[in-house]
Amino acid sequence: MGRLKDKVAIVTGAGSGIGAATARRFHEEGAKVVLADISGAQDVIAKELGDGALSIEVDVTKGDSVKSMIAGAVETYGRLDVLYNNAGIDGELHPVGEMSEEAWDQVQAINLRGVFLGIRYAIPEMLKTGGGSIINTASMAATVAFPNMSSYCAAKGGVIMLTKTAAAEYAAQGIRVNAISPGTIQTAITSHLPADMINAIIERNPVGRIADPSEVASLATFLASDESAFITGADHLIDGGYTLL
Ligand code: NAD
Repeated sequence: MGRLKDKVAIVTGAGSGIGAATARRFHEEGAKVVLADISGAQDVIAKELGDGALSIEVDVTKGDSVKSMIAGAVETYGRLDVLYNNAGIDGELHPVGEMSEEAWDQVQAINLRGVFLGIRYAIPEMLKTGGGSIINTASMAATVAFPNMSSYCAAKGGVIMLTKTAAAEYAAQGIRVNAISPGTIQTAITSHLPADMINAIIERNPVGRIADPSEVASLATFLASDESAFITGADHLIDGGYTLL
């Protein structure tokens, strides 16, 4: 408890899954938390958390919306220390030779452009107070291929290189930028995927199960906190060993 005391944190995609679990954990650890999502579901969680939690509607694909999210956090809590760029979708499943341009673009817009916009507009705020921690959600799909998910895999690969580039650019100014690459986590995204696909993933996983979102929240809390002060530009796999084999 108290590992994020005095920090102000934004979590995108906070209405569901990994984002919701992380927003709850950040709050439990003493942070002032902005729960940002497009769905409205973040309102209920923010109300439940009470003091020190604020709900903001955001579409991470739109620059003006992301700017307003950052401004809202700073207006309410006075600063920005942590941004968790977590919102994402899996998108339509098709082999790349049958993927529509629209389906490709939608995944790129949310999963990669959305991360760029978050970083782009958080950095000027973090520079004002001498630094911060930015965490970007990539995926084990940036390390191993998942058939029918070409746009998803490409966007998540892009998130890792965007993370490393931003980390190199701002390390000297106190801003750390890291990626988290989850394996298969029990959320709305995985419940949409075909059952045979999930079963095949579990069978291949050395740990033999999928994970709870709270397990990713633990890693995000470490990366948000000063305990990880010497860690930047790294991709942190949390996949039960899936990518080892
Ligand atoms: P989820 O569907 O439970 O949550 C995603 C949230 O993002 C939703 O609340 C949704 O409303 C929000 N969102 C979607 N589009 C948005 C937009 N344009 N603007 C703002 N918010 C938007 O899924 P999750 O599994 O918790 O996913 C969180 C992140 O973790 C995603 O980036 C996903 O790609 C990544 N991830 C998940 C898994 C997994 O197995 N669940 C594995 C690897 C990576």
